[in-house]
Amino acid sequence: MNIIFLGPPGAGKGTQAQRICEALNIPQISTGDMLRRAKKEGTPTGLRAKEYMDAGKLVPDEVIIDIVKERLAMDDLKGGYILDGFPRTVPQAEALDTFAVIDTVIELDVPDEALVRRISGRRACPQCGATYHVSMLGGRETCEKCGETLIQRADDQPKTVLNRLRVYHSETAPLVSYYEAKGLLHRVNGEGDMDAIFAEIMKALQA
Ligand code: ADP
Ligand code: ADP
Ligand code: ZN
Repeated sequence: MNIIFLGPPGAGKGTQAQRICEALNIPQISTGDMLRRAKKEGTPTGLRAKEYMDAGKLVPDEVIIDIVKERLAMDDLKGGYILDGFPRTVPQAEALDTFAVIDTVIELDVPDEALVRRISGRRACPQCGATYHVSMLGGRETCEKCGETLIQRADDQPKTVLNRLRVYHSETAPLVSYYEAKGLLHRVNGEGDMDAIFAEIMKALQA
């Protein structure tokens, strides 16, 4: 099953995609993680993406579309995958339709006030991509999965967060009706207990 996770920054896409991927034994394709890796390694793409990411803007469509197209051509995806963070614009969704068949779209719905709280307290593992919230770390500073020291992402600063939410509402939110029109959209309430949200998503995937 080829799945898209749609939702604003901080909605819990990464958190839930990681769990669902483990449960279904399929890869998680996070464009944010891929771009952060490229940035860290200083590849030409990473260098180009940096200025956009640090400002809370979207990387240009042609850059990210090429990256995803290349990734989806790899042969570990026969059993399906979750796209986490792609597509984020209508042109990206239209491009995706030319090289992939999407079976279902999960939209995680969370109001803006909660998103600001979540993103400002997010801690991320630069090694495996796991995310945590300071409120659940109890002072711990390392990743539960791989032991790496957790960081606060450069774009999780309050100033950038508001910009990212604005960009979501103008550029990405139109994808909700795009996939609704195709009959692929499942809306899941992204607020509340993480286990309950996981169960809701699993139910939607079986529908
Ligand atoms: P979040 O998980 O908070 O929604 P991501 O980790 O998905 O954020 O993305 C971080 C940044 O990487 C984005 O703000 C944007 O600059 C860039 N990015 C990730 N995916 C895309 C995409 N599909 N199109 C354009 N830019 C992207
Ligand atoms: P996204 O990938 O959509 O940007 P993340 O999965 O990184 O979102 O989650 C953003 C922040 O919110 C993280 O700090 C994460 O621990 C926290 N979070 C995720 N799900 C929930 C939830 N159901 N309730 C409260 N906080 C959550
Ligand atoms: Zn880790």
